[in-house]
Amino acid sequence: MKTYLEPQRELPVRAEVDVLVVGGGPSGIMAARAAAGKGHKVMLIESRGYLGGNLTLGLPILAYLDINGKQCIRGYAQDLIDRLAARGCAGPHVPCKNHMSLTIIDPEEVKTVALEMMEEAGVEVLMYVFCSDAIMDGNTIKGVIIESKAGREVIFAKTVIDCTGDGDVATRAGVEMHKGDENGGMQPPTLMYSVRKVDMAKFRDALVNHRDVFDMDVMPPEQFAKRYFITVGLRNQIKKANAAGLDIPVARTILITGLKDDQIWVNMSRVSGVDSTLPESYTFGEIEARKQIYRINEYLRKYVPGFENLEVEKVAPFLGIRESRVMVGKYVLTAEDILTSRRFDDVITVAGYPVDIHHSTGSDCTMLFAKDNHDIPYRCLVPAKVENLLVAGRCSSFTHEAMAGTRVMSTCMGLGQAAGTAARIALADGVKPSEVDVKKVQEELREEGAYLG
Ligand SMILES: Cc1cc2nc3c(=O)[nH]c(=O)nc-3n(C[C@H](O)[C@H](O)[C@H](O)COP(=O)(O)OP(=O)(O)OC[C@H]3O[C@@H](n4cnc5c(N)ncnc54)[C@H](O)[C@@H]3O)c2cc1C
Repeated sequence: MKTYLEPQRELPVRAEVDVLVVGGGPSGIMAARAAAGKGHKVMLIESRGYLGGNLTLGLPILAYLDINGKQCIRGYAQDLIDRLAARGCAGPHVPCKNHMSLTIIDPEEVKTVALEMMEEAGVEVLMYVFCSDAIMDGNTIKGVIIESKAGREVIFAKTVIDCTGDGDVATRAGVEMHKGDENGGMQPPTLMYSVRKVDMAKFRDALVNHRDVFDMDVMPPEQFAKRYFITVGLRNQIKKANAAGLDIPVARTILITGLKDDQIWVNMSRVSGVDSTLPESYTFGEIEARKQIYRINEYLRKYVPGFENLEVEKVAPFLGIRESRVMVGKYVLTAEDILTSRRFDDVITVAGYPVDIHHSTGSDCTMLFAKDNHDIPYRCLVPAKVENLLVAGRCSSFTHEAMAGTRVMSTCMGLGQAAGTAARIALADGVKPSEVDVKKVQEELREEGAYLG
């Protein structure tokens, strides 16, 4: 590859903070809020012009409840729902056989509520800045380099929390990262979009009363009589459409009810082989997924009752990434830990979502269910070697299979709250986050409403 030797240059220091959170998605918002308070200077930086990350895509939040209907994600993640519900922008936690539970949210209002939470907590938010590098002193992170219209700048921080989803900071800091399965195969991305003018009575009737035609994975018909549901199935309809030449990229029809009566969110595009850490690959994914939307709409109009007159309402602002880099931390959570409902002394959040792997190639998915929820230990947030850095969200320390369960936004919010709390306590006690008293972290998390079993 042709290269260019960049000349050395002096960079302006934009800020010096106690805790810097990079990435304002579900994990980052909660990390920043938890780190704030007690006089700590906390900053949250975000590359886009709004907070929320994947909370803004039109996805339901899955698995606030576990397989037994117990609410295992509480704390700040519940506070987000309470705030949204108070303005009519979130539904209840609805139990679901396939997803444990679904909670419908308004993807626009999330942006406002997240900013309000940051303002209340005294977090300084800086948007439109991309974190491009880590500043290291040996194996200790000292801050980051950001890029924006203002140029290249430095933010120094005593502790950095990487909530970028892709583990951008951890990668630049030299943390060992991995991607995908043993062949590097990652779960494919999807461009979410919503449609209106769906005849819900007709759609419901097909799902509830015509199961021979409108077959569904795992879920019983009565689930679709409810106000809020997700369909995962109608495999035969897709086969028929494909036989007629439609080329639908998924084997299952995944449709999610919206907050508006005739609104459905469509989770059906799929672009295999996309790597969100390579701009050319991510770009290809965006282009391809947009093309798929037309074919999917044709499928819905012709093969799914109630969708004959659909109109596209909104396409999500970006192609949603299910998987990319994941770090190797002090402990790497495995699928076995999830499936055996393993407990850990250093639990910092409990999670209840099954292992849900959208295959990296082909059009199908594997779901593996446990009998109960499971713990995630603090060590999953702590890089194996680099100090003063925590990594929270889908890029925390999991195997490819485990990450397919822990990636849901409820769990990511739980991980974020834990990372922020640990960073705050470590600073107050004058120790590195890797040496924090986890019992203290657990106590404070419980005080802030988190459920730790
Ligand atoms: C198609 C799809 C369907 C899904 N379905 C569901 C579902 O139904 N329910 C559910 O609960 N979960 C679902 N998930 C999973 C869930 O959305 C994600 O795993 C979760 O949002 C990850 O949260 P996070 O905080 O780790 O990262 P993200 O939500 O990705 O947030 C990361 C944030 O960091 C910012 N950022 C990234 N890099 C930088 C940088 N270098 N500098 C500055 N800012 C940066 C981003 O702009 C973003 O705001 C789905 C995911 C996808 C893609």
